[in-house]
Amino acid sequence: MCNLVKYRVIVDRSLCISCGVAPAVCPEVYELGSDNQKNRVVGKYSIETSENLSIGVIPEELFECAKKGAEVCPVAAIKVEKVGD
Ligand code: SF4
Repeated sequence: MCNLVKYRVIVDRSLCISCGVAPAVCPEVYELGSDNQKNRVVGKYSIETSENLSIGVIPEELFECAKKGAEVCPVAAIKVEKVGD
């Protein structure tokens, strides 16, 4: 059993308008992809990235940062949720 709390970050890249705000407020978690300039979870935490979706798992210490990115997104393309164990 693992008691480390982790969070899943889901970026709907199909909604992203590449404004760059999420990567600006939380570069530890987000970056504009070199593939299509849409937001994605950085490679270190990414578990899946495609043209329209990016999913990552982050440690608890990055939760506030990731959440801030989700809150400032003008098109609500980012969700951060607790991973159950
Ligand atoms: S804040 Fe939203 S629209 Fe802007 S880059 Fe991030 S995901 Fe895309």
